[in-house]
Amino acid sequence: MKVLVPVKRVVDFNVKVRVKPDGTGVDLANVKMSMNPFDEIAVEEAIRLKEQGKASEIVCVSIGPAQAAETIRTALAMGADRGILVKHDDTVEPLAVAKILKAVVDAEKPGLVILGKQAIDDDCNQTGQMLAALLGWPQGTFASKITIESDAIQVTREVDGGLQTVKLKMPTVVTTDLRLNEPRYASLPNIMKAKKKPIEDKTPADYGVEVAPRLKVLKTTEPAGRKAGVKVGSPAELVDKLKSAGVL
Ligand code: AMP
Repeated sequence: MKVLVPVKRVVDFNVKVRVKPDGTGVDLANVKMSMNPFDEIAVEEAIRLKEQGKASEIVCVSIGPAQAAETIRTALAMGADRGILVKHDDTVEPLAVAKILKAVVDAEKPGLVILGKQAIDDDCNQTGQMLAALLGWPQGTFASKITIESDAIQVTREVDGGLQTVKLKMPTVVTTDLRLNEPRYASLPNIMKAKKKPIEDKTPADYGVEVAPRLKVLKTTEPAGRKAGVKVGSPAELVDKLKSAGVL
């Protein structure tokens, strides 16, 4: 079974983003970029399936600027087999990403697409669901455990108030939640080996997909700053304050 893993290049999760003075978005100049953390989890899970003999090939795809090739290289260094870079310099919204991924699925015919539950830059949490709908495939979102059976997959999902386990027919779309696994670091020999693994260059037009944005960002603002705290003189005073604030 072939596994397709979409990987997005996003602002590194450690970076404190700044809003541009004109409010049109966040400042990305000289900001560290990395693979979306949920996509690292997806790559790790695909590698584990390959190690268990349940996957035969792992193909990673990224839609983004030329530098997104580095994100694919990271996945190749972790253990993916080859990459596809669909080059586009501007924002690509989830529906356009899902349409491109559908075209990649039609060409590659994977048995499983495993992607992040959300990209931490725009927090859309839409692409996996849209891809499943476009393909007419079952979907197991927010996965914290997956088990492959012969032609089905069991996905334990993190839902409000607990866990839900669903059994889905393959081929299927799975999106990863934080607790699915802990991604490995790429070893130096694997980083060297990844340099020789192939990355195919494509464009959205190669897949016949129109990527012009449909949404307009009206305004971007910083979150409100936290108010200064107060020091209390004793535990009794703290309890009083909590009671008067309605917390206790
Ligand atoms: P989103 O719906 O934007 O929150 O993204 C959910 C998941 O879709 C991400 O974790 C990625 O796996 C995938 N994805 C979104 N945008 C891209 C992109 N430009 N290139 C590759 N994968 C993407």
